[in-house]
Parts: sequence; structure tokens; C-alpha cells
Amino acid sequence: MSTRAELSLFSETPPAEGDDVLAERRSIRAFLARASESGLFRPEVDTWLSCHSPDFTRALGAAGFIGMTWPVTYGGRNASVSQRLAVIEELLVAGAPVAAHWFADRQIGPSLLRHGTEEQRQAFLPSMARGELYFCIGMSEPDSGSDLGSVRTSAIQVDGGWRVNGSKTWTSHGDRAHHMLALVRTGQPGQAHKEALTQVIIDMSSPGVTVRPIRMLDGREHFCEVFFDDIFVPDTRVLGRPGSGWAQVLGELGFERSGPERFLSTFPLVAGLSASGASSDYLRTNAGELIARLVVLRAMTARVNTRLGDAAAPGVAAAVVKDLGTAWELDSLDLAAVWLDEAEHNEDLGRLYREAQAHSPAFTLRGGATEVMRDIIARGWEPTR
Ligand SMILES: Cc1cc2nc3c(=O)[nH]c(=O)nc-3n(C[C@H](O)[C@H](O)[C@H](O)COP(=O)(O)OP(=O)(O)OC[C@H]3O[C@@H](n4cnc5c(N)ncnc54)[C@H](O)[C@@H]3O)c2cc1C
Repeated sequence: MSTRAELSLFSETPPAEGDDVLAERRSIRAFLARASESGLFRPEVDTWLSCHSPDFTRALGAAGFIGMTWPVTYGGRNASVSQRLAVIEELLVAGAPVAAHWFADRQIGPSLLRHGTEEQRQAFLPSMARGELYFCIGMSEPDSGSDLGSVRTSAIQVDGGWRVNGSKTWTSHGDRAHHMLALVRTGQPGQAHKEALTQVIIDMSSPGVTVRPIRMLDGREHFCEVFFDDIFVPDTRVLGRPGSGWAQVLGELGFERSGPERFLSTFPLVAGLSASGASSDYLRTNAGELIARLVVLRAMTARVNTRLGDAAAPGVAAAVVKDLGTAWELDSLDLAAVWLDEAEHNEDLGRLYREAQAHSPAFTLRGGATEVMRDIIARGWEPTR
């Protein structure tokens, strides 16, 4: 898809929500009300990355809200991408703890459906949809973040599989995931990354895997360093064909960067503050501006959402959503600080603000830094790195 075609997506009017989508919204809202009443969660911010609740995820899976667009044979229910979008919006807006299944639902499942073997789909998708099996993402390494093409973790072919050595870092929930979808180097030294990288599914309980959590500013430990010491990965756990890892990862990044989690991380805080009323003209004007931008972001993400299944990933459009969305999150925190000073509020909102503030340095970095998003937008999604 050309850059021009991608960006023209944003000039199309988003489809009105049909009866099926509205019914889905009612259904997930009812589920969330019951889950909240029964004490299964209390609203938090930045939940898609930070709030990991196996109980909540299992209940959500049992209710049919994970892997909902996947075929019935793999545990899904053939729902439309618009129905799924409505559900994930509602989960984020409610501040529900969705981190355990987020990667599986967002990108690992679609990757398995697109590139996986029948055996791999059967092995992973149904238990992912039930909310019982979690994946982590093994892309970044100590010297390879934005420069993903330079990953050094290597996989050498041996009888029946591959020996993997190296390390990954910033691996969200690496200590809680059952498997990692890892990008590894299988090509010869000097071979271009477009042919030299491969995606493998690593069982995190394999002998030789060591996971060390990294402590964040707020004391939580949500991401990890992961080390591979000569671990064995069978041939059956290569995703796609050896050497196709770079192209597959580019497709995944479209899913990763364009969703509403790129602008709704702080929403439970903003919604709580709006409910407490805006006392000054400054607050009213700036809150109005934030809401107007949010309407535009929702329309943009809805448009990209319709094209995520395409063979050519909408990488530029996804980068635009991520850049504008994460800027919104930071601006919402600036306004929240003024709001908390000026308006009456309960202690819960103060707590949400402190949480969001502690996580905010990551907003524009995770999933690709802002400067890199702008580079992609300027150059038209043909990353050479
Ligand atoms: C909360 C959090 C969770 C994460 N979870 C995961 C995960 O689960 N799995 C995973 O694989 N990774 C994960 N990451 C890693 C994340 O994807 C990387 O941090 C990100 O891609 C940036 O890479 P880096 O940290 O190596 O920074 P670098 O790439 O070193 O960038 C550092 C700075 O240099 C700038 N820069 C780099 N290249 C350019 C350029 N070409 N032009 C201009 N400026 C440039 C960047 O904008 C940035 O400001 C996570 C990160 C965070 C913060």
C-alpha cells in the first residue's frame, strides 16, 4: 500500500457503528459492570501494559472477548474487526486489567493465523482465546530497539531444530508469559536483515532461559531482561519460513502501533476528572480541545483497523496514530495536573495521576520512539534499518 493510499484512509468517513457493534458494546459493558461489582478489578491507568490479572483474563476469555475475530475452530467467534475495536475501547476506558492477554489477542493470534502452521494454530490459539496462555514479545535487545534490524540473538540450525543464544530486554511480562515470539538472526554474518531474521516461538520454561524483572519508578516490575543460553527450539516452532522474520515483524508493528491503547492509557483519569467538573475557563477550554482531538484519534484508529488484515501493513498510518495518540496522552497529564490543583477530587484520582505520571516516560517510547515514527512517516514506511 503506498503512503498516499495509506494517508487517504484518514480522509474517509469512519463507518457508523452497526447494530452488531452496538450490541457488542452493551455486552462488554455489562460484563465490566459485573466484574467490577464482584471485585474482579478496580479502574487503573495504563492497564494494557501494566495490569496483569490472570483471573480477569480468564473470565474475559470465558465470556468470548479474547480472540473474538478468530475462526470458531481456533476458539474465536468470527466477530468483525469493528466489534473487536468496540470491545477493546470499552476495556481501556473502564481501566480493566488486560495485560495478561493483550499481546496474544492483539498481534500473536493474528500472526499465527497468517503465518502459522495448522499444528501451531491448534496448539496455541484455543488456549489463548480462553485466556489461559500468555505470550510476550521478544523484539528489543540491549543494543537493538529502534534499530531492530540489528538484533544479535542468534539461532543456529541443528538436528531437528535450532540452538538459540543471546538476550532480549524490555520484555513486558517475560516473567509471566508461557511463550515468547522472538525475532532472531538465522542468516550469515553480513546478510541483509530482510533475509537474515526469523521469528521463533520460545517456550519460556525451556532449560537455559533466564528471566530477570526490571524494577520501574513506581516499584512495579512489569518488564524483564531475558537470557538464552543455548536453548533448543524445535523446527515446529519456527513461525513462517526461516528468513521471513523482518517482513512478519513489520506486519505485527501495524497492529502494535495503531490501536486505541496508544491514546487511552490515561483515559480513566481524564474521565474521572471530567466527572468532577471544570471550574475555570482554562480547564474548560483545554478539556474541550482534548476531547476534540480524541474524537479525531478514534476515527483514525477505526480507519486503520479496517486495513490491518491486508497483506501490506499500513505502517505509515499506524505510525501517525501512535505519534498523535501518545502526544495526546502526555498533554492529558499536563491538564490533569492543573485539574487536580483546581478542582475537588477524591484520593483515587490522585493515585491514578501518580501512576500515569510514573509511566508517562514510556508512552512515546514503547512500540517505537516518536522520532522513529516521524522518520517512518517522512520516508514512507520502507525502513532500511
Ligand atoms: C514500557 C515499555 C515496554 C516495552 N515492552 C517491550 C516488549 O514487550 N518487547 C519488546 O521487544 N520491546 C519492548 N519495549 C522496547 C521498546 O520497543 C523500545 O524501547 C523502543 O523500540 C526504543 O528502543 P530503545 O529503547 O533501544 O531506544 P533507542 O532505539 O536507543 O532510542 C533512544 C533514543 O534515540 C532516538 N532515536 C533512535 N533512532 C533514531 C533515529 N533514526 N532518528 C532519530 N532519533 C532516533 C529515539 O527516538 C530515542 O529517543 C518496551 C519499552 C517500554 C518503554
